[in-house]
Amino acid sequence: MKILKVCHACDRIIGEIELDDLTSHNVDPIMDIVGNVAYALCPLCLQEMEMEPRNVYH
Ligand SMILES: [Zn+2]
Repeated sequence: MKILKVCHACDRIIGEIELDDLTSHNVDPIMDIVGNVAYALCPLCLQEMEMEPRNVYH
């Protein structure tokens, strides 16, 4: 089963992931799965957050 991976910050679709991967692989710690969508951060937003450490991500 595949689920969509969506950026938490800009709502951009990052890609699709196999749900099976989540249990077998080391999961992205910031990833948050709601229904069929896995919220994470796209590389752009991730980069922005690393450049601006004052932006605290919850
Ligand atoms: Zn983004």
